[in-house]
Order: sequence, then structure tokens, then C-alpha cells
Amino acid sequence: MTTTVITNIGSLVTNTPGLGEGPLGLLRDAAVVIDGDRIAWAGPAGRAPAADASYDAKGRAAVPGFVDSHSHLVFAGDRTEEFNARMSGRPYTAGGIRTTVAATRAASDEELDANVARFVTEALRQGTTTIETKSGYGLTPHDEARALRIAAAHTSETTYLGAHIVAPEYAGDPAAYVDLVTGPMLDACAPYARWVDVFCEEGAFDGDQARTILTAGAKRGLVPRVHANQLSYGPGVRLAVELGAASADHCTHLTPEDVDALAQSGSTVATLLPGAEFSTRARYPDARRLIDAGATVALSTDCNPGSSFTTAMPFCIAIAVRDMGMTPDEALQAATLGGAKALRRTDVGRVAPGACADIALLDAPSHVHLAYRPGVPLVSAVWRRGVRELG
Ligand SMILES: [Zn+2]
Repeated sequence: MTTTVITNIGSLVTNTPGLGEGPLGLLRDAAVVIDGDRIAWAGPAGRAPAADASYDAKGRAAVPGFVDSHSHLVFAGDRTEEFNARMSGRPYTAGGIRTTVAATRAASDEELDANVARFVTEALRQGTTTIETKSGYGLTPHDEARALRIAAAHTSETTYLGAHIVAPEYAGDPAAYVDLVTGPMLDACAPYARWVDVFCEEGAFDGDQARTILTAGAKRGLVPRVHANQLSYGPGVRLAVELGAASADHCTHLTPEDVDALAQSGSTVATLLPGAEFSTRARYPDARRLIDAGATVALSTDCNPGSSFTTAMPFCIAIAVRDMGMTPDEALQAATLGGAKALRRTDVGRVAPGACADIALLDAPSHVHLAYRPGVPLVSAVWRRGVRELG
């Protein structure tokens, strides 16, 4: 095993208060020692231990690799026309998610695998070193299991989302579809999934159906997470907290009771996905309200071809600072440590001895530039599990 020291880091966010200043554990003129796939040491550059190799960061800022805890990468085709119509004020009546379901079912394993690889690489170039991804465009036992098998080749954070929408074949009998999702489809998918998710929303699955699906998944060892309160007020957030879900995702329409539930939950993170509101010209979730109440907040891309076709965590950080009331420090932390908490991981989202060696270098003196210089490709080097993948 060789060790590498990254030295001359102008500013380093560790997300480890004991290592540096404030909640970000910020260090100036810092160094990090990588040993294999782990971080062996982080601290002031002048005190760095010797290593086999060295990399000069030339004063750039370093942050933990982003943890994107919510994406939908296993799909084929795209929805350019739908987006164009929506943004041009024209009506669009084609099938939304169903369009992607049809294209995904028709695609070969190789095509789907190549798509996932492309998006994971695209995300990596923007600093993402851990990414969760979901099924949900197959909606048959075979196609959902296939999506998860393909996803599992790229990430350990795979989520069974057979309950994305009711499959077109079951449009007249949603109860039978819930039976499928909690029966043969779950059997086929459980070996490839860590999490179970449900789109709890009017037009998708109601609170009772969502409870049935999440409980069935939990019995098979899958931990719940919930698409909750995105398009309207509803039972999703409180169900997520009640069931001890790792995350309630979207959280755009929240009552005071929903906010209290998230704030008092020790285990359910509020994951905000501003790419979805951006791409649908919808109202952003109020991160300030959640943080002030005491909730743990994560930021994620929700990358999917319909409502948020971006893999860019820096873009989400910029929106969160500009339009959701987050400070630059809070947004950076939500995109790293927050995502790690939403995935119940303690080995990612921070730079500290023992953590995965996941680091992004920014062509900037400070992480604040992620919001200060929106749209600028600042990520100039990335280590993922100790391997320099970029820069
Ligand atoms: Zn989603």
C-alpha cells in the first residue's frame, strides 16, 4: 500500500470539528495523507507525516467528495421535448415517466449499463464520489431487478423503487400493483438493493399504500426512504419519520407538523432536491425553516430524465444558497456530510482519519466559490477511494 500526501491545500473542509474551525472543521494551509483507499491523516501542512508520494494542491481549496444520496440513473431515452414544451409554455400530454418506462424496458442491458457509467463519470467530474441510485423505470419484476443489478455494478447504494408510479398495465387496479411490488417484484429485487423507496404523492401512492410497501421492504432488510411532499402536502414526511426512514426526500410542501416531525426525528434526514424545482419552475423547498427548526438537511441532484436532468452537486449548492436560505457553509455540508447521513454512512462526507479517501479539489481559494461562482466548472481534481480519477 502506498501513501500519498496532498499538500499545500489553501483551505480544507473536513466536516470534523475537532480537526479545524467551526462546524466545517475548516483548516488553512492544510495537508491530507491517503493510505490505500482511506485517509490516514489530515491537519496543518507543516506537521504532515512523510508519505511515499506527494501532490501539490497549489493553494486550492479541498472539500470532501460530494455524497449524492438521491438519483435515478438507470433509464434509456430522454425527455427533451417535454422539457422544451414545459419551458416554452406549451401543453405537453405525452406520458412523462411512462415514456421513460417504455424506453427503459426496450433497452438492452449494455445500453442501460453504459448510461449509468456515463452519468456516474459525469457526476465524478463535478466532485461526486458517492452516489445512490434507484430502479423505477422497469415496473415489472424482471425489469426492476435488471435495473438494480446494473446499478449495483456501479454503486453499493441501490434503492428499490418499484413504487415509482403504478405500472401502466395495472392502471385500473393499483391494489394488484401494490401486491406485485410487495410480492414477486420485491423477491426479485431485494438481493440487489440496500434501500426501499416509494413515491408517496397524489397520482402515485397514498399513505396506506406507501406504508404497506415500505413495511414489506423493511421485512426483507431494506431500509426505507420516501419521496415525500414534493408536489403537494401529504402524509409522506410523517410516514417516513414514523417508520424510521433514513430520509424524506423533496420536502417542498411542509406543514408545521411535518417540520416538527423532521426536527424531532433522530434518524430521518430531510433531503432537498432543488434541481427538480428548477426544471419544473416550481417553488423551492425552504431549507432555512428546516435548519432553524433543528432538522438535518441533505442536498442531492435527483438526477432523472423528466424533472431534474443534472448530475451537478455544485449547481444544487448554488441554488440552495441563492434561493433556499442556506449559507454557503450549510449548503456545502448538506451536499457532503448531509448526504452521508441520509445514506447512514460514517465513512464518507468528511475528511478524517479512517474515512474513505474521497476528496475534491476546487480551482478556487474557498468552498464558498461553489455558490459565489455558479455554473463555473471549479472541480479540478478528484480522489475516489484513494484513486485520483480526475486532475
Ligand atoms: Zn427522485
